[in-house]
Amino acid sequence: MGEMDLKTFLAYARERDKSLLSLIANFRVDERDGKVVFITEDPRLKSQLLRTVASKLGKNILSSIEVVVEKKEEKKEGEAPPSEGLNPKYSFVNFVVGEGNRLAYEVAREVAENPGGLYNPLFIYGSVGLGKTHLLQAIGNTCVRKGLRVVYRSATDFSEEMVEAFKGGGIKEFRDKYKSVDLLLLDDVQLLSGKTRTQEELFNIFNHLFLRDKQIVFASDRHPKELRDVSDRLVSRFEGGVVVEVSLDEITKLEIIKRKLQELRIEVQERIVQLVMESTGDNVREIEGLVRTIKLKGADAVKKKNQEGSDLEKIKSITAGYFGVKAQDLCGNTRSRKLNRIRHIAMYLCRKLTDASLIEIARAFGRRDHSTVIHGIRKIEEERKRDRRLNNLLAFLERQIGERL
Ligand code: ADP
Ligand code: MG
Repeated sequence: MGEMDLKTFLAYARERDKSLLSLIANFRVDERDGKVVFITEDPRLKSQLLRTVASKLGKNILSSIEVVVEKKEEKKEGEAPPSEGLNPKYSFVNFVVGEGNRLAYEVAREVAENPGGLYNPLFIYGSVGLGKTHLLQAIGNTCVRKGLRVVYRSATDFSEEMVEAFKGGGIKEFRDKYKSVDLLLLDDVQLLSGKTRTQEELFNIFNHLFLRDKQIVFASDRHPKELRDVSDRLVSRFEGGVVVEVSLDEITKLEIIKRKLQELRIEVQERIVQLVMESTGDNVREIEGLVRTIKLKGADAVKKKNQEGSDLEKIKSITAGYFGVKAQDLCGNTRSRKLNRIRHIAMYLCRKLTDASLIEIARAFGRRDHSTVIHGIRKIEEERKRDRRLNNLLAFLERQIGERL
């Protein structure tokens, strides 16, 4: 047989065997180099076509056609299905496992291996910096490699995206997008608090996915029962699968510190490990921050900072002692006028007698924001100029503190 085009082939088939036409309908068809090319994704269809053509049209004609098994267009180009919000730096391999996070880690691994299986939905909770986002992302990255469509979002971004979709008339696309994922990772769901409309959308998306055995994973800084202003029906969905906590025990913290030092190629010396251990709370983000500072400025700079920290503590305790109150009361939120005044005096002395920044002082007094520190310091500065008794008192305290710093 010589060259063959599609039209000739079809005419020939129609003439010899009509059933062949319905088989051909399962293929994409092309013409190349004088041959008719049949393209399918299914290898079984390929052999079926070859057999049928040979038996109905004769073996000769096989040299005029070609049957190709090929993945669909997008897959052919090696594109993964579009996933969103993932950061490849988070994996299970670089997650340090210990007592406080083992259960969460193991359940997360199982979910990544078997999405939509036993643990659906998975709800991970625990305080800040303990690896919740890390685990969500690690699940996502694993599933993407399997060709699943994954979307990771913080609850806030999810909410903003929804609001934009409503405004711009794209709410259908928004819903379609989330309803078509294989794995939805929703982070920081405590931030859904009070967002009624977002909760409603999420509820519907959740039900749609859950019914289809699509995996959903939530993370939050607290247990579902502790969430505020989140609808009961959503809370009951959160609790409907597996709820696991992440925490940080001392041994794991040590392991993490060593790992983070190694990652930044800092020699793991006992004194540095201890320094990081003592200067950080139960928060891996804080550990990472400190290890970076050590990398940048050296361990001694960190020690000096700690020293300053203890200077602030001394000033607080001397001032509090003078007025007969407890140093820790200066950190509290008591609104008593007397305590407020003592707190302002202590802040003023911290500013005057150390190099600590306003933010560091704010922290030493349990304040997030340094505006109260500025306010307190100004007030005392102003008064000191006018009030001789206060001036004497402050001079006295300065001497006391000066002797002990
Ligand atoms: P969360 O979401 O719980 O606030 P993250 O997952 O963002 O905390 O973790 C904060 C940082 O600490 C991230 O850079 C993360 O990679 C790291 N981290 C947390 N837990 C671990 C762990 N067990 N092993 C290694 N790194 C961790
Ligand atoms: Mg997080």
